[in-house]
This record gives sequence, structure tokens and C-alpha cells, in this order.
Amino acid sequence: MSEQTQDIARARAGQGRASRFRARCAGAALKVADFILPPLCLVCRGSVQGYGGLCARCWSGVDFIEPPRCDRLGIPLPFPSDELVVSASALADPPVYDRARAVARYDGVMRELIHALKYGDRHEGVALFARWMVHAGADVIEGADIIVPVPLARLRLWSRRFNQAALLARAIGKAASIPDRPFALKRIRRTPSQVGLSARQRRRNVAGAFRVPECWIRDVADRNVLIIDDVITTGATANACARTLKRAGAARVDVLALARVVDPLTPRL
Ligand SMILES: [Zn+2]
Repeated sequence: MSEQTQDIARARAGQGRASRFRARCAGAALKVADFILPPLCLVCRGSVQGYGGLCARCWSGVDFIEPPRCDRLGIPLPFPSDELVVSASALADPPVYDRARAVARYDGVMRELIHALKYGDRHEGVALFARWMVHAGADVIEGADIIVPVPLARLRLWSRRFNQAALLARAIGKAASIPDRPFALKRIRRTPSQVGLSARQRRRNVAGAFRVPECWIRDVADRNVLIIDDVITTGATANACARTLKRAGAARVDVLALARVVDPLTPRL
């Protein structure tokens, strides 16, 4: 073995020892943190096993959307099917986007989690939410070329200091090894909050609100784009984003959200 090779081998062994030492230190630090700040449930603040998790009671309060679901809207269907099924709502009023998927219904515990993320600056759940979204959106993630979060208006971003959709997009991109492009969609005008608006008012509110900046068109054209949002309410925002991306040349536009408002008349399984 040459002297240089021996040097490299010695250096590698040293690095291995250093990284094992760092791992032991991190483990010890976590044990100390557990003692000082024991992990708490994201919702009820009861004690749980690990950081950024839910207790069993709160977990059972999340209304997960499981198959069978409409292949276009991602809403649950009342009957089992081995084939891809499109709901009557999607046939009557087809969305601009290709497919939407969401982890759970926007009610109960999920609504509390999203409110805490958006308005309470509580980001410790992002890793868990990203894991849920990667699972619920496995079929839309497969084949996606880029991930684009729904952008916030500059003023809202300034007052809230972060965009919850961008936080989720970054975590999902990392987990699924897909590049996230937080600037590929831009909100070009301020839109009043959608809360309390009817479906038609929401559609009008966000029409023409987005643009793909010139410098990002090359990243979007002929690509399969996956839009990330926290909640799909009527789908007006997702449709406005999808329309903008398709006009910029996107081949396919799917949407993945943490929660979706589901018509209360849609039966629970
Ligand atoms: Zn809990």
C-alpha cells in the first residue's frame, strides 16, 4: 500500500470515528432534551413517544381519505372498485388539474393541525405531514418532475413570515427526491381571503392571480408538475394555478394537499 493510500485510509478511519462520536453526542443531546422538554402531542399536548407526533386519541381523530377515491378529485367514493373511477362531481364539472390527492378530510383534528401550522407558527409537525402526503400522494408523486407550492401574496408572506405550502413542498421534495421550485409560480395580485366565499366567488377571486415568471418557463414547459397546498376547499386556487402552469406549457398538473373539504353528503366508509 502506498504512503498516500495509507494516509487516505487513516483519514477515512478518523472520519468514521468522528461521525460515530457525533452520532453518540446527538443521541445524548436528544435524551437530555427529552428530559427537559418531553415530546408532546401536536394537538392536545399530552405526552407522546417522539417529537412531532400525535397521541393515539388525536391520531384516531384524523379522518384519513383512503381508497376507493375519485381519480380526478381525490374525494372518497362510497363503493369499492378495483379500477380507476371518476366521480359524478368530476364528470359534471371537470377540474383544470389532472388529479388531486389529500391526506384527510378538512375537519376535526386535521383542521386544528392546519390552523396551528398556518396561524400558530407551529412547524414541528411538518415532517409528519410530509410523510403523510408522500403516502397519500404516491401515485401523483410518481412521474412528477418538479414540485411547486401554491404561492402566498407578498404582503401575506410578510405578515405570516412563511408560506406553509412551501414548507410542505420542501419536505416532500426532499423525501421523494424531486426538485421543488418555490418561485415557478408567482401571485401577481393580492386576493382577499377565500374564507366565507362561495365557490363562484372563490373562482372569480383567484382568476388571473398567478403567473409563471419568464425565467421559470423552461423549468415548467413539457414537465409533469405537482402543486402542493395545505387545503383544497373548492379547488378554485388549485384550478387557477393549474391553468397558469398549463398555459406555460406544463404537460401534466397534479395537486397534493394535506386536507380537502369533502361534501358532508359523501358517505364515510
Ligand atoms: Zn393528542
